[in-house]
Amino acid sequence: MNGEIINVGTEILLGNILNTHSKYLSERLADIGIGIYYHTTVGDNGERLKDILKSAIERSDFIIITGGLGPTSDDITKEIVSEVMNKKLILDEDSLHKIETFFKSNNINMTKNNIKQAYIPEGSKILENDFGTAPGILLEEYDKIIALLPGPPRELKHMFEEKLFPILNKKSNYIIKSKVLKTISLGESKVATILKDIIDNQSNPTVATYAKEGQVEIRVTAKASSDEEVNSLIENTEKEINDLIEGHIYGYDNESLEEKTFQLLIEKKLKIAFCESCTGGLISSRFTAIPGVSKVFDRGIVTYSNEAKMDELSVKSSTLKNYGAVSKETALEMSQGLLKKSNVDIALSVTGIAGPDGGSDEKPVGLVYIGISTKRKSFFIEKKLFGNRTSIQNKTANLAYYELIKYLKKL
Ligand code: ATP
Repeated sequence: MNGEIINVGTEILLGNILNTHSKYLSERLADIGIGIYYHTTVGDNGERLKDILKSAIERSDFIIITGGLGPTSDDITKEIVSEVMNKKLILDEDSLHKIETFFKSNNINMTKNNIKQAYIPEGSKILENDFGTAPGILLEEYDKIIALLPGPPRELKHMFEEKLFPILNKKSNYIIKSKVLKTISLGESKVATILKDIIDNQSNPTVATYAKEGQVEIRVTAKASSDEEVNSLIENTEKEINDLIEGHIYGYDNESLEEKTFQLLIEKKLKIAFCESCTGGLISSRFTAIPGVSKVFDRGIVTYSNEAKMDELSVKSSTLKNYGAVSKETALEMSQGLLKKSNVDIALSVTGIAGPDGGSDEKPVGLVYIGISTKRKSFFIEKKLFGNRTSIQNKTANLAYYELIKYLKKL
C-alpha cells in the first residue's frame, strides 16, 4: 500500500510550529510496510486543500489528513473531504452525546459551533477521541482509505496508536506486536541509562520507555511475518531487559499494581486489610475497583487524626508524642493494631506528609512510612517521594502495592 500525508494548518506554513506529525506518522506507517511517497502541508484554505486532495486520491491508496477538525469556521478538513468524495455530512448522535458529556464533565459551557464536530461524512467510521472533542474519521471507498486525525499532538498520537494503527496493521503484510513491561521504583532516566545499549542498538524489536507517577513502562515492539517469529523476538528482548533490571518488573501490559497484588493474595490464599493516613482511602479504593476482591480484602480504615490512630488501631499516645504520627514507630503500631483488630493474614499501614504544608527539615513533605505486619513479623519501609499532594498520594499507594508484591512473591 502506498500512502501520503496531508497536514492542514496555516501555523505550519508560517513556521510558527514544526510539523512533527508527518515525521511521527511516516515512521510508524513504515513499520507496517506502508510507504509514504508525499508529504504536503496546506494552510486553512478550502480551494488549495481540495486541489491537493484530488491529486492525492489519483496517486495514493492511503491518505492521512491531520488538523482542521476543530469547531471554528477555518476548520474545513471534513467539509472538503465530503465535497471531494461526494458525501453528505450527517450528524452522528453518539459523537454529539460524547461532545456534550465532555463539556459537562469539564464544567465548560458548550458553544453552538462545537456541534459542527459531531458531523461526519456519510458512510465513514468514527475514530474516537479520548482526549478531546473532535472525532477522527476513517473513510474507505473505491479501494482508497482516507483517515482524518485531529491536530493537537496528544489527541493525534493516541488516536493513531489506539484506533487507526490496529486497523491498518490488519491490512498489512507484517505482524506488529507490543508487550509492555511495567516497572516501579526506578526513575525514567535510570531505566533509560540501564537500557541505553538496547534502546540505541535495536531496531526490531524497538524499545521505548514511558513514565507515569513513579512507574516506568517499557514497551517492546517487534515486527515479523508470523506470530511465532514476533513472539520469539519479544521474548528474547524481554529476557535481556529482565537481566538488567531484575526485580523491578512487576507486571505486563494492562496489569496494575493492585491487580498483581490481588492475584498473589489469591494464589497464596491470604487476606489483607489496610489502614491509611495520608492516602485517605486511596489504597482501599483502588483495591475495591477489582471485581472479586472480597475474596482477599477484609477492610480499609482511614485513620487520619492521632485520636483515630489510637481509637481504631491502639497506637500508644506515647508513641505519637515521642516519635510523631509520621514515623516508623507509628506505622508499625498501626499495622500491628490493625492485624489484631481484623484477624487478617497481612495488615498494611501508611502514614506520611502529602503536603504542601506540614513538612520540616527533619520530616519533609513527601516523607512516607509503610508498615507491614503478619503473625510472624512486622517491618517498615521509609521513602522520600516528590511531587504535589496528589502525586505524593498516588506514589505512596503505588509504593504500598509494590512492597506488598515483593513480600508476597517471596512467600
Ligand atoms: P482544534 O480542535 O484544537 O482546533 P484541529 O484538529 O482543528 O484541533 P488544528 O487547529 O489544525 O487542529 O491544530 C491544533 C494544534 O495542534 C495546533 O495549534 C498545533 O499546536 C498542533 N498541530 C497541528 N498540526 C500539527 C503538526 N502537523 N505538527 C505538530 N503540531 C501540530
